[in-house]
Amino acid sequence: MVRVRFAPSPTGHLHVGGARTALFNWLFARKNGGKFVLRIEDTDVERSSQEMSFEILQALRWLRLEWDEGPTYQSRRLRLYRRMAERLVEEGKAYHCYCTREEIEERRRASGKKAWKYDRRCLHLSPEEKERFEREGRPKAVRFLVPPGVTEFEDLILGRVSVKNDEIEDFVLLKSDGYPTYHLSVVVDDHLMKISHVIRGADHIANTPKQILLYRALGWEPPRFAHLPLILGKDRKKLSKRHGETSVLAFKEKGIVSLAMINFLAQLSWSPGEDRDFYTMEELVERFSIDRVRKSNPVFDLDKLAWLNSRVLSSLPAEEIWPELFPFLEREGIGEEAEARKEWVFRVIDLVKERSRDLLEMASKIKRYLRSDFEYAGDALKKHWKEGAREGLRRLRQVYADLDSLDAARAEAVLRSLAEEMGVKAGKLIHPLRIALLGERVSPPIFDVVEVLGKDEVIRRIDRALRELPDV
Ligand code: GLU
Repeated sequence: MVRVRFAPSPTGHLHVGGARTALFNWLFARKNGGKFVLRIEDTDVERSSQEMSFEILQALRWLRLEWDEGPTYQSRRLRLYRRMAERLVEEGKAYHCYCTREEIEERRRASGKKAWKYDRRCLHLSPEEKERFEREGRPKAVRFLVPPGVTEFEDLILGRVSVKNDEIEDFVLLKSDGYPTYHLSVVVDDHLMKISHVIRGADHIANTPKQILLYRALGWEPPRFAHLPLILGKDRKKLSKRHGETSVLAFKEKGIVSLAMINFLAQLSWSPGEDRDFYTMEELVERFSIDRVRKSNPVFDLDKLAWLNSRVLSSLPAEEIWPELFPFLEREGIGEEAEARKEWVFRVIDLVKERSRDLLEMASKIKRYLRSDFEYAGDALKKHWKEGAREGLRRLRQVYADLDSLDAARAEAVLRSLAEEMGVKAGKLIHPLRIALLGERVSPPIFDVVEVLGKDEVIRRIDRALRELPDV
């Protein structure tokens, strides 16, 4: 049974790297009929917060990476980790360490070595020294006693990894404040939660041998491991804040649609080898395979995300765009009106989606359809509100008003015959009409706009333009 987990530490926003990890775990679970478990690794009390946990859940929900179990909070399982640490001490596989941070720092400095490892001073304490420390009530940590030998594993993405144990320090399992370190809690939980595959970022690769040693010491079978290559910025350095916004919810705020984000994250490290821009969630699941995950470090490219977003927006049916668009309509102050005329707004979405880079832009375009009190754009007036425009628009109003209904084909036919009659090019009527209807220089095909607005509204908007626009 495949069981994978996403185990974020709520010490910051969910970033692109974490979201990619979550996505690949989710895809792997769905593809293999397994379970996707969510675990919040909040044992670093100082740096973790409830707000961040909540925000991470929100981001996962937005991406539609629904989990089957959890969230389990590690901070509620502290007793379990302590018990395991003590068990290892009793079995001689770990030992108490009374060294303070300052003492360790001092010995590190004195050694002059960069790669100094803990010198096992507390492993060799005499019973008297130990007793004295205990009497003094010195705080103590628990350190793992790294056994001799070599630790190897077969990474599903990176291949064979092999580390000499004497390069590994006797790492801390339980800190002197009684909180477990990441190594202890992650191994205990992955085992107890029956995790079959650990899929995580390559920044954890150095942790894996330590964790495998810990599994063995506890008498447990380690899971399989797959480490996803690090994401780089355009300068080919590890992606960080310096490269600008990388928090997933910040992209949501900017009007990125979740399916674009998902495809962007998927394509950061994986490709189904087909010539397509994007896939639905179902299609991704169908095609996903860990063998096709690339080993090379992907470069985070915001232009690619923007491009994918406009591709996804222009292809999605209006009703699928709607739920993610709605908060942006509310922000424009047209939420209620849009909700009340939802079916009609769907038609508007279908008109504007080709030209919308993001949901912010889409919402502001839709506002011009819902509300006729928009401002006329200066560049549009400058270019197309010229001599003859008013007269053309006035006559067009007349012929449109005489029709009993106004669909795109009729609107176009009568406009063209009017232009002929007036001896002008159709553009001389089309541009002023566009200004009257939407107030902008560019728009979707104008006769489609006429049809969607409907005859009465078209006449109303032409009247407003004739009334408000300056004489030229
Ligand atoms: N809490 C760890 C992190 O956020 C999880 C690492 C792991 O997946 O083992 O990096």
